[in-house]
Amino acid sequence: MTALQLTDLNKSFGAVHVLKDINLTVEEGEFVVFVGPSGCGKSTLLRVIAGLEDATSGEIRIGASVVNDTPPAKRGIAMVFQSYALYPHLNVCENMSLALKQEKQPKAEIEARVAEASRMLSLDPYLDRRPAELSGGQRQRVAIGRAVVRQPQLFLFDEPLSNLDAALRMNTRLEIAKLHRQLEGSMIYVTHDQTEAMTLADKIVVLRDGRVEQVGSPMDLYNNPANRFVAEFLGSPS
Ligand code: ADP
Ligand code: MG
Repeated sequence: MTALQLTDLNKSFGAVHVLKDINLTVEEGEFVVFVGPSGCGKSTLLRVIAGLEDATSGEIRIGASVVNDTPPAKRGIAMVFQSYALYPHLNVCENMSLALKQEKQPKAEIEARVAEASRMLSLDPYLDRRPAELSGGQRQRVAIGRAVVRQPQLFLFDEPLSNLDAALRMNTRLEIAKLHRQLEGSMIYVTHDQTEAMTLADKIVVLRDGRVEQVGSPMDLYNNPANRFVAEFLGSPS
């Protein structure tokens, strides 16, 4: 089963052509990492998949459904942002519950899902704290927990660790890898960090100027980069 299929996807903002003929498949359970320089269109691609931006042309298929006209909340996707995007006036429990309340999930179901996500992400001691009372790493775990409770078919992470210091980045990276093993979910993860890409990915998609430059396993790309650009990104001498 395919989790995501993009066919001839294009996105322009006015005269600016940002995403160019993207064709891409994510298999169910796969951890796919998008890498590429700043401005190459990584965030735009995630936002188009999530439905936060409309595609200009092309098809977005999630599972068995074409979702081009499906609103974001109904796409079976949850996105984790670099900036956390938590609600400052809500505590951790309320931040994690909000989307489920909006979906009108039963109270017992909401409590069970929040309890499970808190346990997975070691957030139990912080459930009644507000974001301002948490460290950066704890806030990012809440943002991840808020995605986990929705039980999405597909997780999207947009540079989730780039605001954390090096030690926390490593811890949180290991936590995301563990989450992927436990949930067996399909994940797309954007980064410009070579170590994150090489250690997390089943499959790496190298983007350059809005196009897919190369797709392959970390070892494929490391050993057989298509060109100097890919080689420089993945640290292998070309
Ligand atoms: P990345 O995440 O790889 O750094 P982005 O997807 O944020 O790249 O941006 C890709 C390009 O699209 C950039 O040139 C950016 O200026 C442009 N862009 C992104 N969002 C918009 C927008 N809402 N309106 C106009 N241009 C945009
Ligand atoms: Mg970005």
